[in-house]
Amino acid sequence: MKAQVLNKIAPVEEKPLQRVDVPVPQPKDGEILVKVAVCGVCHTELDEIEGRLLTKLPVIPGHQIVGTVTASGKGSRRFKTGDRVGIAWIHSACGKCHFCLEGKENLCADFIGTGCQADGGYAEYTVINEKFAYPIPQIFTDAQSAPLLCAGAIGYRDLRLSGIKKGQTLGLFGFGASAHIVIQLAKYQGCKVFVFTRGTEHRRFAQSLGADWTGTSEDVPPQKVDCAIDFTPAGETIPLALNALEKGGRLVIAVIRKNTIIPPMDYSRFLWDEKEIKSVANITRKDAEEFLPLAAKIPIISEVQEFDLSQANEALLLLKQGNIRAAAVLRIS
Ligand SMILES: [Zn+2]
Ligand SMILES: [Zn+2]
Repeated sequence: MKAQVLNKIAPVEEKPLQRVDVPVPQPKDGEILVKVAVCGVCHTELDEIEGRLLTKLPVIPGHQIVGTVTASGKGSRRFKTGDRVGIAWIHSACGKCHFCLEGKENLCADFIGTGCQADGGYAEYTVINEKFAYPIPQIFTDAQSAPLLCAGAIGYRDLRLSGIKKGQTLGLFGFGASAHIVIQLAKYQGCKVFVFTRGTEHRRFAQSLGADWTGTSEDVPPQKVDCAIDFTPAGETIPLALNALEKGGRLVIAVIRKNTIIPPMDYSRFLWDEKEIKSVANITRKDAEEFLPLAAKIPIISEVQEFDLSQANEALLLLKQGNIRAAAVLRIS
């Protein structure tokens, strides 16, 4: 099968993914073989490829996979051949540790990330344990569904962990694949949304999705926000977001890595008054299972820019440069 494989860590500018032919993986007990239709392109892939996130090598990246079941391993009964399924960042967790038993499998020490510690969807086929695959609601096309599996499901988790309530004001710092889904969720829940982002194009896009105010991270909004979510790779955003936050508010940081360190902050000015900071790590199956039907009900339509599998390096570079307006998706079949 055709696959895009990362053999060594390198800057995305060097086009490090190589098009190769590899054997089709065989589903083991409990697993399904999925013929990949599309796979989303995520910022996490930039971190894997450029070495900021520990990944197995060689690896087939990609963790927003939509495809159809073409074979099942022994004992796999949840899906039949031809069923459309999605695969997200959580490839597996141990299922036995106290985190897994408490519904926090995202924190499991044996958490395996799709396209990171296990091969992912930049290929014609992939395998996954059937318990870690999700039915895709009918109303979505394959391409529309891909961003829901990471940007969407993690965005849903971010919003849930922010503790925002109906009628409150949410601040979104940065406006990419995840934020453009979160704004639709938040508006559906009856929240006001302020979007802080540099690009005028991104601000216009936010306005078209119902943003109540837009500006840059340095701008002063018309009122403080009750909760905030930070999607930016810059450490410098943290004090700016805390400054915009109302007393008792919570700032959720929705990125795995910050490219720059968080600057020293004066406690009394930035954190006093019971402000909280919380990070988000990975997702649980429950996040994806709850979010997908909700996305269909609202409905959340994610805007996608399609590329061919052979253009994986180009799509990643555009993402790194901030030149993807919403979400990039690779078309495989
Ligand atoms: Zn992702
Ligand atoms: Zn565990």
